[in-house]
Amino acid sequence: MRVLISGAGIAGLSLALRLAQRGLTPILVERSPTVRAGGYMLALVDPGYDAAERMGVIEDLRKVRYAPQRLVYIKPDGTEDFRLEGRALASLAGDRQLSLMRGDIERVLYAKVRDSAEFHFDRSITAIEARSASVAATLNDGTALEADIVVGADGLHSRVRALCFGSEDKFIRFLGARVAAFVLNRDDFPDIGPGETYSMTEVGRGSAIASVGDGRLVAFFVYRAELAHKFDHTDLELRYAFRDARWHVDRLLAGLSKATSVYFDDVAQVVCPRWSSGRVVLLGDAGSAVSLIAGGGASLAMGGAYILAEALADMPGDIAGALANYEKRMRPLVDKGQKTARRNAALFLPNSRFHLALRNAALRLASSSPRVASIAGRLLSRGGDRL
Ligand SMILES: Cc1cc2nc3c(=O)[nH]c(=O)nc-3n(C[C@H](O)[C@H](O)[C@H](O)COP(=O)(O)OP(=O)(O)OC[C@H]3O[C@@H](n4cnc5c(N)ncnc54)[C@H](O)[C@@H]3O)c2cc1C
Repeated sequence: MRVLISGAGIAGLSLALRLAQRGLTPILVERSPTVRAGGYMLALVDPGYDAAERMGVIEDLRKVRYAPQRLVYIKPDGTEDFRLEGRALASLAGDRQLSLMRGDIERVLYAKVRDSAEFHFDRSITAIEARSASVAATLNDGTALEADIVVGADGLHSRVRALCFGSEDKFIRFLGARVAAFVLNRDDFPDIGPGETYSMTEVGRGSAIASVGDGRLVAFFVYRAELAHKFDHTDLELRYAFRDARWHVDRLLAGLSKATSVYFDDVAQVVCPRWSSGRVVLLGDAGSAVSLIAGGGASLAMGGAYILAEALADMPGDIAGALANYEKRMRPLVDKGQKTARRNAALFLPNSRFHLALRNAALRLASSSPRVASIAGRLLSRGGDRL
């Protein structure tokens, strides 16, 4: 079976790897000239961790993980408020979790699958046409490809979804915020130690600097925003959203001009009533983004990829049945993740002094007791779902 995958992110690469392991033929079309580097820090948990184990990549991921040692919370006046470290921090994260840079996950997956899949980098699908027993796709350089099934694993702004399911506005649920992240020049911040993260959350905005292993530092910004109001340049928008902010915010923003890749997007979910239409199916953020507030999008992307590959390999003669099984298995996990994000939005990015105080009180309590930290970890992000 030939499976054409749009997008070589965590979802697309994981799917390609498992398909190849099961003897199917993955073909990937990726708009970037190569697998993306950098990105932002994320925690691989629950279904993603399980899938990584089953696909035999957990040890490779363990080698590129970083170990958070200390989370320091800064008050709006720039002084330290409290810190989470030691057993409390370990309990907040839980046992089955790896802290990773998105780019490192993609690099590990790519190294595992590059020799068993066909890659078309710097390309994008421009047309998809259903045929009686196959599906045909045209790329932006005119290349024609034919496959048994097309998978849209091309993220929040999926091209496959736009081509086969409808325009973006039908599916995107904006959560009222934007996020930016980029890798900083290490030499500009000699005072940040290995494994340290410093973060400052105010009403409506938060900024952080995180040490993510290999001497790398990441700057992170999230803030309340309106969909209709967007500046032309990331720099202008961030400087407006963080005007008057104290602490290191100006220095972090100065790092933006030197950054080689910047992640900047709306904080949003994708709510799609059906993930498949004929021989076309959506995977990962393309069909079911939960948003960074839920904190499990990469894990769901990897877990979903594993389940989809298994379904296709187990039922090669019944594509509709395989796609229905994949959706039946993954839909409850996604619904739960999306609900968690909506429930936690006001705590993740407080919209009032009351919510800010509540959030800080919960984190301060967690910092004093590993038991409370473990409960807080489950409530705030980890769904505890196994594959
Ligand atoms: C700041 C931040 C923190 C996060 N933290 C966590 C966390 O702690 N834990 C967690 O599990 N998740 C986290 N997430 C969510 C997680 O990163 C995403 O859910 C996950 O990366 C989705 O993977 P994906 O492969 O579906 O999509 P993407 O990562 O968006 O990848 C899509 C791929 O498709 C390519 N592409 C796009 N358009 C086209 C096109 N037209 N043609 C060809 N290729 C195309 C892109 O270049 C990319 O390679 C976080 C997200 C953010 C923004």
